[in-house]
Amino acid sequence: MNCSIRSPLRRSLLPFLFLLLLAPLTNAADTDRLDALRIADGVWFLPGDSSKGYCNNVVIEMKDYLIVVDANYPGRARELVRDIHRLSPKPVLFVFDTHAHRDHAYGNIIWTNAGATTFAYEGVVDEMNRYEPQRWLATAAEREDVRSLQLTDAPRPELTFRTSPFILKDGTREVQFWFLGWAHTRGDGFVWLPKERILCTGDAAVNGPRNKLWDANIANWPQVLARAEQFHPLHVLPGHGDAGGPEILEGQRTFLSDLYNAVKAQVDNGRTLSQLSMSLTDRDRNWAPRDLSTDFAITYSEITQHQPAGDIPHVWK
Ligand SMILES: [Zn+2]
Repeated sequence: MNCSIRSPLRRSLLPFLFLLLLAPLTNAADTDRLDALRIADGVWFLPGDSSKGYCNNVVIEMKDYLIVVDANYPGRARELVRDIHRLSPKPVLFVFDTHAHRDHAYGNIIWTNAGATTFAYEGVVDEMNRYEPQRWLATAAEREDVRSLQLTDAPRPELTFRTSPFILKDGTREVQFWFLGWAHTRGDGFVWLPKERILCTGDAAVNGPRNKLWDANIANWPQVLARAEQFHPLHVLPGHGDAGGPEILEGQRTFLSDLYNAVKAQVDNGRTLSQLSMSLTDRDRNWAPRDLSTDFAITYSEITQHQPAGDIPHVWK
């Protein structure tokens, strides 16, 4: 009898005891875990922790060195500098900023201090010259990882290119860096691996309702994505949200053009900003935020002021 009572008890306690024993180990592992997803031989997608504002990263292994796509925030850059050897012992020689936004580029100095060279399409520096140091100072006021650098301006990428594609190539791999036009920002850079058919998009295409339109050229953005679709990628690695395939490019493009066309049609019919509405298709829903009012306001400004949203004086909100 005793046995029949104690045995289930013991069975039910065992998992808890096991978890208690495991807890400190799990926490320790969490702090230095990269969560890397292997996309191809020597190419890893590292999802960023959105609760900390981090963007995604991509690590590309060359014959003798590594390329990292996006500097990220300083906090994540520090984690990657510390842990990237878990993927490959080769040194990070190049870090590519897909664009000037803080969650993609503010970690630049962490990488240069670690011996890497940061680089970008020249439009990234144009964007930083336009918006900094105001954004840096505002971000330092609210984020410890930026404040801890004790800088008064955003470090620019050290090298820039003007003509696309800029190419890094060796005996094992070719990596192309492209500017395809003004979309999310004036400086959106794409990374294309022709052999593996992998495209890294930064925030020109994200997976989910995560995009910001303040610095954009909303009318031009879908055309940029249509150009990106001409690469016919197998894998699309976005700046935010899960990795996927070409449906990320198509979905982001369709939502933006549906948004633009809906606002344009209503403006043409004399509607004011507060009267705007939009019926979403099933495909739009992955990209449309629950509250469309900010997207409406920015698109409405672009259309009624006859210039790209990013050219209209604005502050990042
Ligand atoms: Zn961005």
